[in-house]
Amino acid sequence: MRDIVTLACTECKRRNYTTTKNKRRTPDRLEFKKYCRFCRTHTPHREVK
Ligand SMILES: [Zn+2]
Repeated sequence: MRDIVTLACTECKRRNYTTTKNKRRTPDRLEFKKYCRFCRTHTPHREVK
């Protein structure tokens, strides 16, 4: 029961990554620090629908 979610850069709003999560265990929005190749730095990436 793991669903694919998309992670978008909070700076440029581009969708850079996809990952999976268990929506039942993690109902909140995920946020990871990841490298954004558009910003060319590490930025917070947040789950989008
Ligand atoms: Zn970015």
